[in-house]
Amino acid sequence: MSVFRTHVLLPVDVGTAQAGVFEVKRRLEKELSVRQMLDEVKVLESGTVGIVGKGVILAVYPDRMYYFNVREADVPRIVDEHLLKGRVVAGLDHAAIAVSPSVPGPKVGLTRAQRRIVLDKAWTVDPENIDEIIAAGGYRGLERILREALPPEAVIEEIKKSGLRGRGGAGFPTGMKWEFTRKAAGGEKYIVCNADEGEPGTFKDRLILEGDPHRLIEAMAVAGYAIGAGRGFVYIRGEYRLSIDRLQKAIAQARQYGLLGNNILESGFSFELEIRKGAGAYVCGEETALIESLEGKRGNPRVKPPYPVTHGLWQKPTAVNNVETLANVPGIMANGADWFRRIGTDKCPGTKVFTVLGHVEYPGLVETDMGTPLREIIFGFGGGVKGGRKFKAALLGGAAGVFVPEKLLDVKMDFESLKENKAVLGSGAVLVMDETASVVEMLFSIAKFFAHESCGQCVPCRVGTRQILDIAWRIRQGHGRAGDAETMLQLAETMFKTSLCPLGQSLVMPVRSALENFAEEFALAAGQAGKA
Ligand code: SF4
Repeated sequence: MSVFRTHVLLPVDVGTAQAGVFEVKRRLEKELSVRQMLDEVKVLESGTVGIVGKGVILAVYPDRMYYFNVREADVPRIVDEHLLKGRVVAGLDHAAIAVSPSVPGPKVGLTRAQRRIVLDKAWTVDPENIDEIIAAGGYRGLERILREALPPEAVIEEIKKSGLRGRGGAGFPTGMKWEFTRKAAGGEKYIVCNADEGEPGTFKDRLILEGDPHRLIEAMAVAGYAIGAGRGFVYIRGEYRLSIDRLQKAIAQARQYGLLGNNILESGFSFELEIRKGAGAYVCGEETALIESLEGKRGNPRVKPPYPVTHGLWQKPTAVNNVETLANVPGIMANGADWFRRIGTDKCPGTKVFTVLGHVEYPGLVETDMGTPLREIIFGFGGGVKGGRKFKAALLGGAAGVFVPEKLLDVKMDFESLKENKAVLGSGAVLVMDETASVVEMLFSIAKFFAHESCGQCVPCRVGTRQILDIAWRIRQGHGRAGDAETMLQLAETMFKTSLCPLGQSLVMPVRSALENFAEEFALAAGQAGKA
């Protein structure tokens, strides 16, 4: 068996694939072969580190540095200079890697030290190789439960004690959801993973799945064990082809290794997992609409109560959890609830994966402690406002989120602190807008999105989204009328009180925060209209 002196990792995700990562890989293997270095340098595909917009990334270990914007033509120089002579190639974009807090690294940018739980293996292992996953600690949580024959109630208790809350937006305690499902009457039960990530500006679940699909499998098996389910479903966006492909391969490998299927690790516990693809409707991210779609029907939300924990998939007790929520479970089961509680804040333990986008120097993913100030996320990990321009606003939580002004830059990013400041964590999206961006324009785009995605089942949302869109369009075109802002807010508040599901209920958040925090901009738009 070869002992490699250097490992070269090529993160493969949708962005790097489009930028030519496979061409770079082929060229690298060819150049190494020509120089008879294939038994010294190991080339591996890995999950993403979360950096977007920087082309092909090529990381070198143990040097802990990476090149970005790598082109096929750069490969011979990287091989000759770096892999052969140990010198960083001058003239190529490069940076240090320090995803671990214990290793000194860059002070800004997405490769500065992060505390990683759900993304801990994303850049260090080959996601398509179960041996690497197991060697890096994968399936330890499941193994502990089954080896120690922990009662399902004890697993639920551990999750409750950890304080894990849903990362899909609502922040509901995961242990309580599992407990309700376990205690619900009805023979068959299900665990469903909501991987229908539709929030604009959010792609964290995709990258979690692409980087470490086995983490989700392990988590769902643990959840199935806890709630008494023998079957689980991953409902995933159909466009997430790489995630689906890797998840399918991971499921097959897990079955082969006795980590899925009948009598897992000879414990007597059996669990099966299936993938179902969604067709891209935003409303199917709502749990009851998702369940309807899973049943093969149109994805219309159901009237609640009853809730899925008692009447879910095929009217059976069902726990629906988001990808990131579940991705925390293996760590908690392997290291214990106390370990998890020591991270983050008292009421929101653990980490959160944020998608930092818009006018920042380093757009991409960052996983950091719950309660990290917004300023740190934008100016630390994100590297600040692009081009040194002035910060104007951040839209937190996606389209159904809140516009926050500069005075809230020091708000802590956790459920409680944001709520106290009339903001939301939502999906974890942080869309940065610089001084040149228009909140009026952004609100118009959001209104358009909601009007398009409304399923039309209930009147307040079906009609309200159209009316808000009409007003937002008028203001944007410079034809605003007196009272437009008030009418828009009134409509959104009525939708909040009377709509059937969170889609119709949540448009009030961007509308209210835009009008409250950027009133001048709307007044100016109306003023210009008056002059026209
Ligand atoms: Fe459909 Fe909107 Fe009603 Fe939700 S609120 S059920 S998306 S019409």
